[in-house]
Amino acid sequence: MQIGVPAETVAGESRVAVTPETAKKLVALGHSVLVQSGAGLAAAADDAAYEAAGAQITDVAGVFGCGLILKVRAPSARELEMMRPGSALVGMLNPFDSAGVGKLAAAGITAFALEAVPRTTRAQSMDVLSSQANIAGYKAVMIAADRYQRFFPMLMTAAGTVKAARVVILGVGVAGLQAIATAKRLGASIEASDVRPSVKEQAESLGAKFIDVPYETDEEREIAEGVGGYARPMPQSWLDRQKAAVAKRVAQADIVITTALIPGRAAPTLITEEMVRSMKPGSVIVDLAAGKGPDGTGGNCPLTEADRTVVKHGVTLVGETNLPALVAADASALYARNVLDFVKLVLPKGADAISIPDDDEIVAACVIAPERETEEI
Ligand code: NAD
Repeated sequence: MQIGVPAETVAGESRVAVTPETAKKLVALGHSVLVQSGAGLAAAADDAAYEAAGAQITDVAGVFGCGLILKVRAPSARELEMMRPGSALVGMLNPFDSAGVGKLAAAGITAFALEAVPRTTRAQSMDVLSSQANIAGYKAVMIAADRYQRFFPMLMTAAGTVKAARVVILGVGVAGLQAIATAKRLGASIEASDVRPSVKEQAESLGAKFIDVPYETDEEREIAEGVGGYARPMPQSWLDRQKAAVAKRVAQADIVITTALIPGRAAPTLITEEMVRSMKPGSVIVDLAAGKGPDGTGGNCPLTEADRTVVKHGVTLVGETNLPALVAADASALYARNVLDFVKLVLPKGADAISIPDDDEIVAACVIAPERETEEI
């Protein structure tokens, strides 16, 4: 089958869906890989590296004419026009964006959204949310360290002692855990909070202190456990108590990294303007939820601005919405391996057409177009 790899066109998107490493594997599986010239440049993969891996370099029309297109981001209207009806598309296609999904279906594309990969052991190697969140958590700490005008580690020098930075991490999922691990390696003192009780042990094992907000009812505990590894919106009573506990820590913090997301919904507000005012001048907030709402807005702090770094009440607020793209080579390497493992499920070795297995729960979860008929209940 001919597999097309376009250069991404969303502003700031420097990742690529196929690296020379995975191109070589696709070629070994009997497929032709057509890469748009320059597609991997921003991710440290030049055309020559793809050619050495057995891929062909072509133009944009050449890649969008392929039967299977592997992308990072959902296609623009212009890109969709270049795809032929009946072709297939794999990428991070925003499954919660019903208008975008409708356009893919109307264009006759078979589309697989990798954000919908279930969080099961078998699907782990295709879990793009995890592979990219891991990178985002790391980069958030790097950016915080860069913006912060003091040291992270405690230093005892002849010129005096410097205290370790106090870092508060809100949301201890994949990104939050990596942020804890990275901040710990830099010598910071870390406190963390999450709605899910199961993460306390994980946070502590990486060296963070967990901010305990006890559950007062069975309902609170049950909701907090989430579903399939994902958080659900917590009752207001618990959120109020969490806010009070977090507010105290934030007032003393030097760095706050927020990663709290609820799939398909607006991110919860965890840092209010009042809390920002309470912080020391020179503190830094990195809001990983910035721009991650279903409509592309939102964040865990109402003062963060998507894709901007601003200073408000003396605090630097970083609203970078695509942190993985700032580590483009490794982000692409991991993403491309996720994509390759998924492609193997729908494209048997040497096959010249996509086939959707009847009984594969990973594929079934990812198909967003053609739209499935709703089962009658
Ligand atoms: P996410 O990006 O959707 O959310 C980030 C974190 O924010 C989550 O831990 C969530 O509980 C937390 N959060 C939501 N509302 C909050 C609030 N009001 N206050 C504080 N925290 C809040 O989640 P994610 O990182 O993609 O994944 C979450 C979890 O899923 C992982 O930690 C893991 O346990 C599980 N997971 C399992 C697998 C697997 O089994 N294969 C793979 C990936 C993730």
